[in-house]
Amino acid sequence: MEEPVIETELSTIASEEEIYVTRPNLPPLESLLPSLAAIWESGRLTNNGPFHRRFENELGKHLGVGNVNLFSNATLALIVGLEALRILGEVITTPYSFVATTHALQWNGITPVFCDIDERTFNIDPDKIEALITTRTSAIMPVHVYGRPCEVDKIQAIADKYGLKVIYDAAHAFGVTMKDKNLLLEGDMSILSFHGTKLFTTFEGGAIITRDEKLKKRIDFLKNFGFADEVTVVGPGINGKMNEFQAAVGLLGLQIVQDEISKRKSVAEAYHKRLDGVRGIKTYAAPDEVSYNYAYFPILIDEEEFGASRDEVYERLKRHNVFARRYFYPLISDMPTYRNLPSAGREHLPVAGRVADHVLCLPMYGTLEPKSVHAICNCIRNDR
Ligand SMILES: *Cc1c(COP(=O)(O)O)cnc(C)c1O
Repeated sequence: MEEPVIETELSTIASEEEIYVTRPNLPPLESLLPSLAAIWESGRLTNNGPFHRRFENELGKHLGVGNVNLFSNATLALIVGLEALRILGEVITTPYSFVATTHALQWNGITPVFCDIDERTFNIDPDKIEALITTRTSAIMPVHVYGRPCEVDKIQAIADKYGLKVIYDAAHAFGVTMKDKNLLLEGDMSILSFHGTKLFTTFEGGAIITRDEKLKKRIDFLKNFGFADEVTVVGPGINGKMNEFQAAVGLLGLQIVQDEISKRKSVAEAYHKRLDGVRGIKTYAAPDEVSYNYAYFPILIDEEEFGASRDEVYERLKRHNVFARRYFYPLISDMPTYRNLPSAGREHLPVAGRVADHVLCLPMYGTLEPKSVHAICNCIRNDR
């Protein structure tokens, strides 16, 4: 049963302050000052310095993985990761992601092949991958959208059958854990993002997680212009190095991320309480085997049932100082750079098209107050 609608003074404004879709979870400024002092003292600003080495090590322990390559951002990590695995030809990927996923393929001269998504998880639909495989296909690049794990076993089975690599864009998946496996060790590599909008942040930053020690070495060379030593350049490298400031922020961030996840869990519960069961609104709950990171809170709005479209709700929230985001709209496959690809037509991607047209990501961060969640939900529910 739907709970009774609570009348508030929504006729004026849902929130006095502007509420954005997220706020970064930063360590206390004082806790960073000794690290800054150490960086200034040593004069080591980048190039695998002491903070970089410590962060790579601590991050690996935190995530339960052996090989971590830190990067200045996840886009460069994706680009270098594909190069390190020598991926060419065509890669099957999802149109329902942030543009960087597809851009990384394009920067490697790879042809993206868009595959439709699953309507429950919004991740690549494994049952639709095989039909897209050609003699040129070399890899699958899925995304754990909003931190919801892909169907990794099904994807791996297809990859094994056809001899394909699997590269996970795990930009949203920091802190997601599963009962029987480490999500970040699935496939050939996983790429994390530590951008300022992400659950765990180093301002800008990213990492590649691999199981293969040799691959980690190659990535280390490639992200440093290809230098294997002072005089040997082993490949077409680039500058993807994380600097000491970013690493120092990351080290402190590790101490506060778990607390942020618990706080976000409470925020998610508050949203569920007010929005679950509302006609025309769909929320998502992670399956039991997943310990979720609450990185995002997307809802789907069905105009017919709800009585207002996604864009109407988005605009209404904006008028009330609440800046929700239409992640991911437009679809990557609808963007001018990609829309002429044979796989990009909406007729091939019906689920992705539907989700992109109906999704809205609500504000989600640990310090979002219960009264704000309440006001946001009221604004969505009754001010129409
Ligand atoms: C944020 C994001 C990226 C890019 O990360 P940067 O660190 O900003 O380069 C890539 N893929 C997805 C799915 C993202 O959300």
